[in-house]
Amino acid sequence: MRRVWVSPAKYVQGSGELERLGFFVKIYGKSALLIGTKEDIERVRPQLRTTAEKYEIEFIESRFSGECTKKEVDRLKEMVFVKNCQCIVGLGGGKALDMAKGVANGQNLILVPTIAATDAPTSSATVFYNEDGTLENYTYFSQSPSVVLLDSDVIVKAPVRFLVAGMGDALSTYYEAFETSISFGSIQAAKICGEDSELKTCSTLAAKSIAKTCLEVVLKDGIAAKEACIENKVTEAFENILEANTLLSGLGFENGGLAAAHAIHDGMTLIDSTRPYLHGEKIAFCLLVQFVLENRSIEEIKVIFFFMKKVGLPTNFAAVGLDKATEAELFKAARAICLKNDPLANMSMKISPAELVSAWIEADDLETLLTLE
Ligand SMILES: [Zn+2]
Repeated sequence: MRRVWVSPAKYVQGSGELERLGFFVKIYGKSALLIGTKEDIERVRPQLRTTAEKYEIEFIESRFSGECTKKEVDRLKEMVFVKNCQCIVGLGGGKALDMAKGVANGQNLILVPTIAATDAPTSSATVFYNEDGTLENYTYFSQSPSVVLLDSDVIVKAPVRFLVAGMGDALSTYYEAFETSISFGSIQAAKICGEDSELKTCSTLAAKSIAKTCLEVVLKDGIAAKEACIENKVTEAFENILEANTLLSGLGFENGGLAAAHAIHDGMTLIDSTRPYLHGEKIAFCLLVQFVLENRSIEEIKVIFFFMKKVGLPTNFAAVGLDKATEAELFKAARAICLKNDPLANMSMKISPAELVSAWIEADDLETLLTLE
């Protein structure tokens, strides 16, 4: 069976790396369109100035609105043309990076995450949202980012909530890749590597082993990394979690495949009361729902559940705003998840909306079941 692999061309992580950003920009030319919110750019203004001077390059600021919509992509594409920029630099959180991917369409793209809240930076896909915040679609570009650059000194100063949310996203990688590998392989990777998205693929050994390492690292270093982040200290555990949240989880999901946890998360964007919560926070709870669907043993669930509690990830309805959702809203989201079928189709079993809602409620009950034991 066909095996496919996608990844960025270069990945760089470490203290002070932002001051070497100009080295990568210069590979393409003298000017780069800089896509990031005003606040994110101000946070690293001194490093941007230093690297621009050192490598004699120029950053053209885009005044990014902060929303990842197709209208904004068109505005920034026009700007690349008018200002004659030779590469795109996306700097900041998920939306700025997704926007940069949309503008670059895979060409000469440098991504600089300033938080480690998701595994999106290394992937060639973007999530587009409608103006009202609901998910529009996943778009797959022809190429992965050229360079992904993380400055640990910058990320360690970001709010710890982002790092913890990134661990939620990274925890799901192994389990979603596992489901995908026992069904038929990643729809995502297949879409990137062929016109026929139904073409059967199987996960590479590389993807399986990366997804497994991702889980092991998060469980081993997660708590210590959180403490290091609170103290603004770049430690070995912190660096390991940066790599797990970004590189391991990114390669793991793109090549290993997404499954129920991400499908349920996408459906949750239809429920207003879950809006204030971060992607990785919602994914953590959705992973518990996936465990229920898989009928995983309580002993296995316990390991992840108590790690989530200890590190501060949501483990029940109230912690992701679902306690305010009506049953009608749950069913509406469940029907949308089953209808869309991507990435739910990567699960090894068929799931109906009613089964999804009952698994959702059962996952909420795990709290009572496990903490009263
Ligand atoms: Zn994710």
